[in-house]
Amino acid sequence: MNYENILKEIYEEIQPYLEQGHLPDYIPALKNVKADDFAMSLITLDGQEHHIGCCDKKFSIQSISKLFSFTIALDKYKKELYKRVGHEPSGNPFNSLVQLEYEKGIPRNPFINAGAIVTTDSLVSIYKEKTFETILEFIKNSSTCQDLEINEEIYESELAHGFRNFALINMMKSFNNIDNDIDLVIQSYFKQCSIMMNTKQLAKSILFLANHGINPLTNEQVITVSQAKRINSLMLTCGHYDASGDFAFKVGLPGKSGVGGGIIALIPQKMALCVYSPKLNKQGNSLVGTKALELFTTKTGLSIF
Ligand code: GLN
Repeated sequence: MNYENILKEIYEEIQPYLEQGHLPDYIPALKNVKADDFAMSLITLDGQEHHIGCCDKKFSIQSISKLFSFTIALDKYKKELYKRVGHEPSGNPFNSLVQLEYEKGIPRNPFINAGAIVTTDSLVSIYKEKTFETILEFIKNSSTCQDLEINEEIYESELAHGFRNFALINMMKSFNNIDNDIDLVIQSYFKQCSIMMNTKQLAKSILFLANHGINPLTNEQVITVSQAKRINSLMLTCGHYDASGDFAFKVGLPGKSGVGGGIIALIPQKMALCVYSPKLNKQGNSLVGTKALELFTTKTGLSIF
């Protein structure tokens, strides 16, 4: 398969779509980006790399970080974790409060905001003030990139405007599903969201999930085969919030998006992919990123179906 040519074709074909979509406005600092940027990276398990566009430009990983915090929490708590956060799609927006009220503070899955806040809380119970550093260290190890840090401006901006997330955590606290100090948990959550990475680094960071839990870059067994299967299933069913069905329908791969404009996706036993384009569709997923991945699976015939 000539991946180099396929990426070039995708780059041409997505150009008209760069007009569409909107930048998120509820975290003001996320608007300080070049709206028509595009990057795509592909890394195979045997080490082939192909990239196109601004693949060295770092952006805030936002909800892609939920994948890593959940991976650490699942490894620590095993099935116990599911007492506090479910594994069903929510069918609601990522920051919705409605379902949480009538489901008594138990979020549907770890990839909506409420679910990610619970997994972060579970990590705060173990790592206390070092929770964010633990998550960052995990991402550094899985990507083998040491030069990762947060964007302070994005972190402060979300802290000042994260009213819905504060509402979510307070509601869950009222249902006894948050064990730690609200500020410590929410600060750690906002910090993990404001980690800056490029598409090359993000693609590398999920190779272990495409490889039965073993990181091919370090040969380390990061999680078990079964845990990798579960995490990938959750990405397929919940990774794009209320557009998860649409993403599975059009792209056919496990994936996780973030409002920073990034999407990671993987083909089990083959490769990891990452796309970046900051304008979003109405469910808060990168519009051009989704299109690029749809073109990729259509052109290559590589999907899990
Ligand atoms: N930090 C964002 C928030 O909590 C993450 C949301 C996202 O990327 N979908 O609202």
